[in-house]
Amino acid sequence: MKEYIKRLKKGTLKMHALESELPAEEAVSVRRAYIEEETGQKFNKAGKYSIEVERAALKNCENMIGAIQIPLGVAGKLKVNGEYARDEYYIPLATTEGALVASINRGCKAITKAGGADVRIQRDGMTRAPVFAAKNVIHAADTIRWIEENKGTLKSIAEQTTSHGKMTDITCFLTGTNVYVRIEFFTGDAMGMNMVTIASEKIAEKIAADTGVVLVALSGNMCTDKKPAAINLIMGRGKTVSAGVFLTDDMIRDIFKTDAKTLMEVNNRKNLVGSARAGALGFNAHAANVIAAMFLACGQDPAHVVEGSNTITTVDQMEGGVYVAVTLPSLQVGTVGGGTGLETQRECLELLGCAGGGEPSGANSRKLAEIIASAVLAGELSLIGALGAGHLARAHKQLGR
Ligand code: NAP
Repeated sequence: MKEYIKRLKKGTLKMHALESELPAEEAVSVRRAYIEEETGQKFNKAGKYSIEVERAALKNCENMIGAIQIPLGVAGKLKVNGEYARDEYYIPLATTEGALVASINRGCKAITKAGGADVRIQRDGMTRAPVFAAKNVIHAADTIRWIEENKGTLKSIAEQTTSHGKMTDITCFLTGTNVYVRIEFFTGDAMGMNMVTIASEKIAEKIAADTGVVLVALSGNMCTDKKPAAINLIMGRGKTVSAGVFLTDDMIRDIFKTDAKTLMEVNNRKNLVGSARAGALGFNAHAANVIAAMFLACGQDPAHVVEGSNTITTVDQMEGGVYVAVTLPSLQVGTVGGGTGLETQRECLELLGCAGGGEPSGANSRKLAEIIASAVLAGELSLIGALGAGHLARAHKQLGR
């Protein structure tokens, strides 16, 4: 240990090279000890964990020194009437936000009592959009025509890089001399970003070679990965999924202590008009809260919470109650790859019955998407209900209505 720390201090050994000289577990201990010596900060707690270092340090996190622990709670059971998820589930939520699990739990109770959440996935496709520089607008337009005419060739080139990925579409956008090529793939049970990036590189090389445009960046931000973007809201990215439930007037009164008209008014004034006035890309109460907690628990890429927050919540007043629904245009989830192989996260996927590859391919990631959308519905119901029962009731009283 001392010898390695000495070399790290001297600069004759780089921190990232420790794993090439030592087994991963020892490499992590040496690195942690070195950082403790250098900074004086002790990692007595972050240095103790149960996940397998071999996988985490080599596949998930460079320069690993330990692990952060986040409390894990459950809400539910939540009944889901999906095409892939058809059962009652305990929902795993990793969070430090007190009251979140309790709030989602209340929404789960209402949904389950109402017979379950209706859930459907409308589209399933991960995207990557390289950007190319053309000589002029005519060259850019000719390139797009070439791409349209050669989709079949590009598809077969892409699919040589993966056994599970299938290219499903290409949409091109011309902006001056910039050509953006948004390539879409079915990625089976993987969230798919690595898979799609590798396949898109091959497509980009072929386009550049045959048309003369220059590949500037493999991601031209029209994908759009991990940034708030209207394109994901409109065209979808990852899974586009909707979940809804009909609540009777009695249930609204018993569980949420409010009524149908109030739920609708809160949703209209807050989630729809308020979000529009704010220029928001998401029209919801707190979808990101549920998505973040489930993503952390289930080994999803937490940066994709930004895309999940595109969620739109709708409330329709109907005879005898309301139909509340959430639509998540861009939910990126997977049950293989990324953080899903870490043991603690895998246990949460197992709890939902969707760890690993599904049968047929894609069934498990779709099941996870349906469950997450249903949990988002639970979170929306609970918060809209709480606002309706509290704040709006008070406002009505003050306004004498
Ligand atoms: P991945 O960790 O690269 O794993 C996907 C691989 O699993 C595929 O190559 C696939 O092999 C294999 N696989 C085995 N069974 C499968 C099944 N049932 N369905 C689908 N694939 C199966 O995962 P990824 O989802 O492509 O990428 C996720 C990771 O990318 C995350 O760690 C995320 O943080 C990171 N990420 C990367 C980028 C980027 O630009 N590279 C951007 C954002 C996030 P075959 O391909 O041979 O079929």
